[in-house]
Amino acid sequence: MAILLSMKPHLMEHWRRALLAVDPTLEIRMFPESGPPEEIEVAVCWTSHDMNELRRYPKLKLIVSMGAGVDHLLRPPGPPPGIPVARLVDTMLTTQMGEWVLLNVLRFHRQDLEYRAQQRDRVWEELEAPVTAARRVGILGLGELGSHAAKLIAGIGFPVGGWSRRPKTVPGVESFHGQDGLDALARRSDILVCLLPLTPETRGVIDARLLALLPRGAFVINGARGGHLVDADLLAALDQGRVAGAALDVFQPEPLPAEHAYWTHPGVVMTPHAASITIPESAAPQVVENIRRVREGRVPINLVDFAAGY
Ligand code: NAP
Repeated sequence: MAILLSMKPHLMEHWRRALLAVDPTLEIRMFPESGPPEEIEVAVCWTSHDMNELRRYPKLKLIVSMGAGVDHLLRPPGPPPGIPVARLVDTMLTTQMGEWVLLNVLRFHRQDLEYRAQQRDRVWEELEAPVTAARRVGILGLGELGSHAAKLIAGIGFPVGGWSRRPKTVPGVESFHGQDGLDALARRSDILVCLLPLTPETRGVIDARLLALLPRGAFVINGARGGHLVDADLLAALDQGRVAGAALDVFQPEPLPAEHAYWTHPGVVMTPHAASITIPESAAPQVVENIRRVREGRVPINLVDFAAGY
């Protein structure tokens, strides 16, 4: 029985080596060379793989997302009926995202956009000192990534609140949930960070309505998915000065077209979906663990809840 990898060719080779380092007995096929369809029992894929193609493998027991998000696997046509989907929960993914969020929280808090503009114009002028305890950060999504980022930011003295589907206890972080909770959190967020999964409920959550609830001059940080943000609404809020800056790692579509306003907007800082990148050596042990589990008829770890959509 074999494992099918499907992602960019250089990544597939990297993943193959990482999986074999954990279990040298694995039989690994690299798409499109999948061999006899009845031999494939686990598929490890990323965004480009067509879920209809996976219906060709009659013995498929598990699909693994190559990252933390699974929106690309769940959108229509979705995975073959009855096949579970697992995602990655990985310390290195969590650490990287925490660093990216912290970088941007500090960038905005420490007036870096203004100081960079001053440097460009050779202006020597000190701005008003920022007060950490007065800069309230709101985090949408208090899961693996969101709760880590929340603790990191709270740990250096920012007042942090977080929004989740169900009430949540994260030390040092005020918990908000439900529609009322979202609005209450937005009203007290000088910096709003999105680390939600993309589901039908969360698509477009950062829209004109939510942006209007933020304190004037707030900042927006999106490290989740481009679909969470209504781009036209953010650009309007930036241009009207209601939002003072945005740090964006994710876009729709990706890559972001060269003519998009974000590329040159003075209030926007961009990274190319690089906030948190899967490191195969770090993620391979949990994938091998799941291969063993499905072979032994045990329940895989990090399973996606299809009803919740993440
Ligand atoms: P996770 O552990 O599944 O956490 C998701 C969080 O969102 C949970 O707190 C959940 O609430 C909350 N949530 C989901 N739907 C909600 C709703 N309708 N209303 C309120 N809260 C809701 O996910 P994760 O591992 O932290 O990852 C989050 C996302 O980050 C991924 O899905 C992916 O899209 C993105 N990501 C981006 C990058 C990058 O490089 N830019 C890298 C990795 C991941 P409960 O706690 O109540 O369940």
